[in-house]
Amino acid sequence: MNATDPANNAHAQPRRLAGDTLVFEADTTNSGYVRGVLIDTGPEPEAYTGWPVTDLLITHGHADHFSSAAALRESGARVVAPREEVSLVENPEVNIRGMFSWALPSDEMVTKLFRGEGCTVDAYSDEWHTSGVDVVPLPGHTLGHSGYLTADGVLFTGDAVYQKQIWKRHPLPYAIDPGLVRSSLRLIESLEFSWLVPAHGIPVERDEALEHIEFHIGRIDALTDRLHELLADAMTTEAAIAALSREAGLTDNPAQYWLAVTTVKAYLSDLLRQGRAEFFVRDHAGWWRAL
Ligand SMILES: [Zn+2]
Repeated sequence: MNATDPANNAHAQPRRLAGDTLVFEADTTNSGYVRGVLIDTGPEPEAYTGWPVTDLLITHGHADHFSSAAALRESGARVVAPREEVSLVENPEVNIRGMFSWALPSDEMVTKLFRGEGCTVDAYSDEWHTSGVDVVPLPGHTLGHSGYLTADGVLFTGDAVYQKQIWKRHPLPYAIDPGLVRSSLRLIESLEFSWLVPAHGIPVERDEALEHIEFHIGRIDALTDRLHELLADAMTTEAAIAALSREAGLTDNPAQYWLAVTTVKAYLSDLLRQGRAEFFVRDHAGWWRAL
């Protein structure tokens, strides 16, 4: 593509939210930008043409958050990711294998959000320091998921916060630990920020952000309580996945099912650790029952 190609101008310009902090809003994944530091990437590296990237900060190891990382690194950017996410960024196959208990799943079983080009990571988020951006660990969606808070008071939350309208499309959003998601949401409430930018959704000011956070916590609590009710009669792991997916209104398709497997297991494990459910093996199947 050459410089006079009109397609070069097709990308929306970033919006200035506060001070030097900008956001590239996209239907896929929003990116932040502050003085050469880019936070998460969408699928098109051309979107950042004219905005030099010295450092690329990745919130977590799902491929829809680092789609352009390899191309940007090729152009000289230093790639930074949370320590626990590095293996997923460098080799998306790790995530895909983890989803299927390390066996090899078929293509139709794997969400496109996990598929992408891996990228070498140059530094860990917790060891990376630059003036003007703080790293905020926000685990729960994944093990090492982290947000980034700029000195201008803009908090980029990756997939830690799902806004109300996103719940309509994703009624059982992926989480590996809903208890950790809840604590991360409480942590966000305690931070001083004026804008919150989720990776999927729209930038909102603090008051509105707090409403979305309350909604998210309310949904986690409702799903947890509903699962607990459903377990009044003991059921297998498979039956619990089906029951909660049905309650949430998920459609039947292989990729959606395999994402729900992880999420429902995470809710089951949360109930177990709260002492609200027990797990046992009967007839070579795993069973759960409410306590
Ligand atoms: Zn994600």
